[in-house]
Amino acid sequence: MKKNKTASDVRSKLEEKGLDKQEIQNILIEDARTGLSVEALKRAISNNLFYAQGKFPEIATRHDYYMAVSYAVRDRILNRWVGSVKQYLNSKNRVVSYLSAEYLLGPHLANNLINLGIYKQVEQAVKELGKDLDWLIEKEIEPGLGNGGLGRLAACYMDSLATLEVPAIGYGIRYQFGIFEQDIKDGWQVEDTDNWLRRGNPWEIERRELNYEVKFGGHVQHYTDNNGKFCSNWIPDLVVKGVAYDTPILGYKVNTTNTLRLWKSEAPKSFDFQVFNAGGYNEAVRQKIVCENISKVLYPNDEQEEGKILRLQQQYFFVSCSLQDMINIHLRQGDKIHDFHQKFVVQLNDTHPAVGVAEMMRLLLDKYMLDWDDAWDITTKTFAYTNHTLLPEALEKWDLELFGKVLPRHLELIYEINRRFIDKVTVRFYGDHQKIASLSLIGEGPRKYIKMANLAALGSQAINGVAALHTDLLKKTVMKDWFELSPEKFSNKTNGVTPRRWMVLSNPQLTELISSKIGEGWIKNLDELKDLEQFAKDKAFQKAWMEVKHDQKINLSKKIFQRMRLTVDPDSLFDVQVKRIHEYKRQLLNALHVITLYNRIKQKPEADIVPRTVIFAGKAAPGYKMAKLIIKLITSIGDVVNNDSDVNKKLKVVFFPNYNVTNAQKIYPAADLSEQISTSGKEASGTGNMKLSLNGALTIGTLDGANVEIRECVGEENFFLFGLTADEVENTKANGYDPYDYYKNNPELKLAIDQINEGYFSHLDPDTFKGLVRSLMFDDQYLILADYQAYVDAQEKVAETFKNKSKWAEMSILNVARMGKFSSDRSIRDYCKEIWKVEPVPVKLEN
Ligand SMILES: *Cc1c(COP(=O)(O)O)cnc(C)c1O
Repeated sequence: MKKNKTASDVRSKLEEKGLDKQEIQNILIEDARTGLSVEALKRAISNNLFYAQGKFPEIATRHDYYMAVSYAVRDRILNRWVGSVKQYLNSKNRVVSYLSAEYLLGPHLANNLINLGIYKQVEQAVKELGKDLDWLIEKEIEPGLGNGGLGRLAACYMDSLATLEVPAIGYGIRYQFGIFEQDIKDGWQVEDTDNWLRRGNPWEIERRELNYEVKFGGHVQHYTDNNGKFCSNWIPDLVVKGVAYDTPILGYKVNTTNTLRLWKSEAPKSFDFQVFNAGGYNEAVRQKIVCENISKVLYPNDEQEEGKILRLQQQYFFVSCSLQDMINIHLRQGDKIHDFHQKFVVQLNDTHPAVGVAEMMRLLLDKYMLDWDDAWDITTKTFAYTNHTLLPEALEKWDLELFGKVLPRHLELIYEINRRFIDKVTVRFYGDHQKIASLSLIGEGPRKYIKMANLAALGSQAINGVAALHTDLLKKTVMKDWFELSPEKFSNKTNGVTPRRWMVLSNPQLTELISSKIGEGWIKNLDELKDLEQFAKDKAFQKAWMEVKHDQKINLSKKIFQRMRLTVDPDSLFDVQVKRIHEYKRQLLNALHVITLYNRIKQKPEADIVPRTVIFAGKAAPGYKMAKLIIKLITSIGDVVNNDSDVNKKLKVVFFPNYNVTNAQKIYPAADLSEQISTSGKEASGTGNMKLSLNGALTIGTLDGANVEIRECVGEENFFLFGLTADEVENTKANGYDPYDYYKNNPELKLAIDQINEGYFSHLDPDTFKGLVRSLMFDDQYLILADYQAYVDAQEKVAETFKNKSKWAEMSILNVARMGKFSSDRSIRDYCKEIWKVEPVPVKLEN
C-alpha cells in the first residue's frame, strides 16, 4: 500500500542516520501530528480516516474525508494554541476580552489552511489521496452564529487580533441553531432551521471542566453581617450551568492562536437531583429543557430589538459565564481582584452584553465583598462600548418589570448606580430636567424601562462609533447628552475586514495577480496595496485584471445556474446588492431602477444599453413583513424580466438564496458594481462595501457609513455618488416630505410604481404588493422616491463608464490600491492603541 511505502521511505532515511527503532517511531508519530510536508499530511489524513472515522478509502464518504483533513489540520493548530495559552499564563500582559452575542465566522477549514500557510501542501496531499480539496472544503457547514455585519465584524476582529499577536479571548454563545437557512419558494422566503452541529464540529474542543453557574429569577435577601456590613443574598428560582466550548483562532503566518470561547447552557446536576428526590421527575425534566433552551437558538433579527425574556436570559447567561471566567483566570495567576482591570479590558460589541456592567458590580460587591466605590472604579476601568446603530428601533430597552423578574439583584444595582449618577448630574445640569431624564438609565412612561445604551455608556471608559460619520452623528443625536457629559470618552473606530478571508481565501486569482506585482506584504500590511497605483494605466495589467474579474464572474454564473437554473452572461455588468433585507438599505430603490431599465429596453429594444445582471441576496428577519415582501417583489420582477425575450439578453435579475459567509465569498469577487445605497445617516458603517471594493468592484453609493471614507480614499472620480446627505435627509423630512409629489412629477418613476400597483409583476393581482406601494407613495420614511432620479442618473454614468473597458479597469485597480485603510488590522491597531492599551505578545513555541 502506498501509505506504508511513504512511511517506510521516511523510516529508512532515518535508519540511515543511525536512529534506533523507538526514536524513529516517535518521530513518525510526532510528524503525523505536526509535520507540514505533503508526506506527513498524507499520512495524517489516512490515519485520521482510519482511527478517527473508522473508515478506509474504498468506503470513506466525502464527509469522512472532510473530517479526516480537518482533524489533521486541527492537530497542527494545537501546538500553537497550547503554546499561546502557556505564553499568556506566564505573562502579565493585558488581555482583550471581546464580548459579542454573535460571531458570523464562516467555514474554518480553508481559512485555517491559509493562516497556517499550508493550503498548497494539503491540496497536494489530498490530491495524492485521490480527492479534490475544494470539493471537501465545500462540504463544511458554516457556523452561522450571527445575523450580518455585527457578527461578521466580530469574526474579522478575532482574525486580526490573532494576526497582530494580541492576547485576546472572544466570548459568546454556542447556539445550537444559528441563523436560519433561507430558501425561496414561489418567490417568497421560507426559513429552515440551521442544525449546523448535526455532523459534528471538528473545530471546537468541549471543556466540561470549565463551567460556571448562572442564576435567574427569585428574590434578594438583605442582611447586615458581623462586621456591620450591608450584604445581599440572591436566592434564584433557576440555576443554569454554562459549559465552555473553545475554538482556536489562528493568526496569519504567526504562532499566535487565540481562543473563541462559546458557552452552552445545561442543567446543573445538583439541581435536578434535588427536584428528582422531591419526587418531581417531570419537573426535573422540564427544568432541564428550560436550561438547555437558553443557548438553543440565535434570534434572527438584524437592527431590531426583540424584547423577549429568553433573549435577556441569553445575554446575561453568556456575560455572567464570561466575567466569572475572566476573574477565575485573573485570580489563578495569584493577582488581586483589585487589579482586574489591569489584566482584562472588556469590549462590548453593541449593548447585547451591556448587562455585564451590573454583573461586574454584583460579583465585586456580593462575591468579593468590595465596597461600592472600589467596585465601581474597577468596573468603569474595565469596560468599553461600541455603538452599532442610530436606528431607534434597534436601541435596546428592557421593560423594567420583566428585567426585575429575570435579574432582581441587577435591577437593584442599576437603581443604585442610577441614583448615584443622577445625584451627580443634577448638580451639574441643575434644572435641566430633560437632559437629566435623557441621561437616566431608567426611562419613564406608561411602563418604566432600562436603557441599555445608557448603562453601557456610564459603565465604560470609552465609547466608539464604527465610521467617522456614524460617530459624528452619535455625538449629535442619540448620545448627544453623553457627549456633553464626557467628551473624552468618545472616539471613532472605523470598521475593517480581514483581507485573509475576503481576498486571499475567496479570490486566490486576484491575490496571485496582485502579489506577482507587489509581493505578498499587503496581506498583513494592506496599505502596501498603494504600490498597485503605478500599474493602473498599464494596458497589460488592466487586461490581466479584467481577466481575473471575468473568471470570477464565470464561476458565479455557474453557481447561479446550479442553484437557480438561470443562465447569466459573464460579459454583462454584474450589479450586486447583497446584505440583510431592510427598508433603510433600500433594496426597493434598486428594484425601481431595474423596472426602469426593463421599461426602457421594452420601449426601445434597439437602444445601445449596457447588458446587466442585477444580483440580490440577503435574508429578511422572519417577522419583518415588509422585508419579506421586498424579496417577493425582487423575485417577481425577475420572473417577468428573465422570461421576456425582448429584454433578457440585456437584463437579468437574480435573487441568490441563503446569503451567508460561504455564498458571500463567491459573490463579492464577481461584482463589477457594489450597491451601497442606504438612506444617508442610517447605515452605521457597512463592511460589505469594503469587501466588494477590495475585490475590484466600483461603488454606487450615498454618503452614508463608511462609504464616506471609502470615497475619500479611492477618490471622488472613482466613486459613483448620488443622493441626499444626512443633513438633507433631516431637512427634507422636517419640511414636510411628500413622496406623492415625486411620483406625480416623474413619468418613469410613476410608470414603475403603477406597474407594481397594477399587478404587472404579480400576474395582474394588485393585492400582492399593495402594502409596499402604499408605504412608498404615502410614507416613504427612507426617502426612496426623493433619491430615485439621482440614483437613475448615477446608474447611467455607471453604464457609460462600463463601456470603456480600459477606464473601468483603471478605476477598479485604483479602488483596490487605495483601500488599505479598511483592513480590520488597522481597526484593531487603533483599538489597541487608543482604547485597550495592549501590546502584541509574540508566541514562541518550545520544541
Ligand atoms: C459582510 C457581510 C455582511 C454585512 O454586509 P453589509 O453590506 O455591510 O450590510 C452581512 N452578511 C454577510 C454574510 C457578510 O459577509
